[in-house]
Amino acid sequence: MSYVVLARKYRPQTFGDLTGQEHVTRTLQNAIETERVAHAFLFTGARGVGKTSSARILAKALNCEQGPAAEPCNVCPLCKEITDGSSTDVLEIDGASNTGVDDVRELRDNSRYLPSHSRYKIYIIDEVHMLSTNAFNALLKILEEPPPHVKFIFATTEPHKLPITILSRCQRFDFKRVPLVKIVARLRYIAEQEGITISDAALAMVARKGDGSMRDSLSCFDQVLAFCGNQVQDDDVATLVGVVDRRLLADLSAAVLNGDTQVALEGVSRVDSFGYNIRQFTQELIAHFRGLLVIRSVPNPAGILDLAEAELNELRRQAEAHEPQAIQRRLTLLIKAESEMAQASFPRLLLEMALLKMATLQPVLPVQQLIERIKALETSAAATPELWRNPAQQAAPAAKQQAPSTQARAPQPGPAAAAVKPGGGSWERFVAFCLERKPAVGALLEYGSPLHCAPDRIEIGFDEGSYYLTCLQDSDTLQSVRELAAEFNHQPTQVTVKSVAADTATAPQSLAEKKKHDDEQRLNDARREAAEHPLLMASLKVLGGEIIDVKPL
Ligand SMILES: [Zn+2]
Repeated sequence: MSYVVLARKYRPQTFGDLTGQEHVTRTLQNAIETERVAHAFLFTGARGVGKTSSARILAKALNCEQGPAAEPCNVCPLCKEITDGSSTDVLEIDGASNTGVDDVRELRDNSRYLPSHSRYKIYIIDEVHMLSTNAFNALLKILEEPPPHVKFIFATTEPHKLPITILSRCQRFDFKRVPLVKIVARLRYIAEQEGITISDAALAMVARKGDGSMRDSLSCFDQVLAFCGNQVQDDDVATLVGVVDRRLLADLSAAVLNGDTQVALEGVSRVDSFGYNIRQFTQELIAHFRGLLVIRSVPNPAGILDLAEAELNELRRQAEAHEPQAIQRRLTLLIKAESEMAQASFPRLLLEMALLKMATLQPVLPVQQLIERIKALETSAAATPELWRNPAQQAAPAAKQQAPSTQARAPQPGPAAAAVKPGGGSWERFVAFCLERKPAVGALLEYGSPLHCAPDRIEIGFDEGSYYLTCLQDSDTLQSVRELAAEFNHQPTQVTVKSVAADTATAPQSLAEKKKHDDEQRLNDARREAAEHPLLMASLKVLGGEIIDVKPL
């Protein structure tokens, strides 16, 4: 006996058999019962969701000897010949191969004649969007004034390709992709009828392969049965269908969520050794994490996730232990890795890197919690508003032992600065005077150390072998200094330049050294002050950061 493929053997023969299109069948049955049947129908939707089957059932319901009825009897000769495809009054036309205007003209001429022995002459045109523009125009002429004994049922996967003039003359029904749960239920029914032993998990794998198409799911089931016979093993189905075993997805996702890098990378090894396409596997893993996220984010995930009952429960168990944010962050990493795989020649490495990152992600505070803490921080700061205005003054009483360092920041020179100034600051004033009168000379003096500074005699030390020493030893420059000194002191002043060892501790600091030293001191003070500032300390605690650098503004 020849094998009849499941899609044909189990083709629905009544509206009740039709899976997943209840919104369509109910409307059609109501129309028949209330005798408000349109003369042209348009059935749209993806392939294999029941459009052509529905067209035939509708044709039978309209022409049945017992009808028109909400369900065809399927036993009268009229029903039977439609089922067989031998009816002369119900004509199925493939739009893909009869696209020409001549075909449609013939149809038009033919439609004028009354049906030979049925109630209606019914034209079922599949893939109607394939017709040529002229053919559509010819078709439109019949649709504008349809003979009362003619019904049209158009089916298409691409309704947007139909002229608006045709669309507007049809009653349109959008067929949905069949939910996975319903495909599994139908497969289970067929398995029982055929005496096949198969698990729900395996049926779900088959159904998933069909991607919402009942016909594709049944073709896949045919393939599985041809390979496995009546005793179907899960592993065989996984291999045959090329669908990733759900357990592998569950194991891998559990590993990264629990920070187990060992199991995560071993999982990739398994994926590779099974010969799965790494990118495809990554996409399935993304779908898995999406499932976890949806379950943790909405009260009724079943309406959003197209999953079999067992799969949904499994996901629910896994999702419970993890915060949505933790799942989302890992999902983001996966999506990034997947998009990079398109160009990469080593997808396995990308997946491994992504999984390692996912497994070692540090937990973060929920944003809401963070915002609440910042609000608390602002409230406490508002209670003591001077905190914001002058951090230095506020820091001092908080840390008494640091008081001198904060004082050093005051603009007037403190006692520490005075200690390095021989001549009661007259050297500084003299250099300032020189800078104003002869900037080039003044700039050189900034690097000199005032060994002696009195109105009648100035002795300046410069580092041995330094550029500044060489400059000052030049007689013209030295003469300029002498003239400036005489002008500054209002009396002749003896000026001498001396070479001093670079590391001598006895020579007073030059102004340049002092300035550098003061700058460092100020920066250190600022750093210390910043680190001890109560607001900064509180912020670090709340936000969990660290100070990397303090920069003067
Ligand atoms: Zn019948």
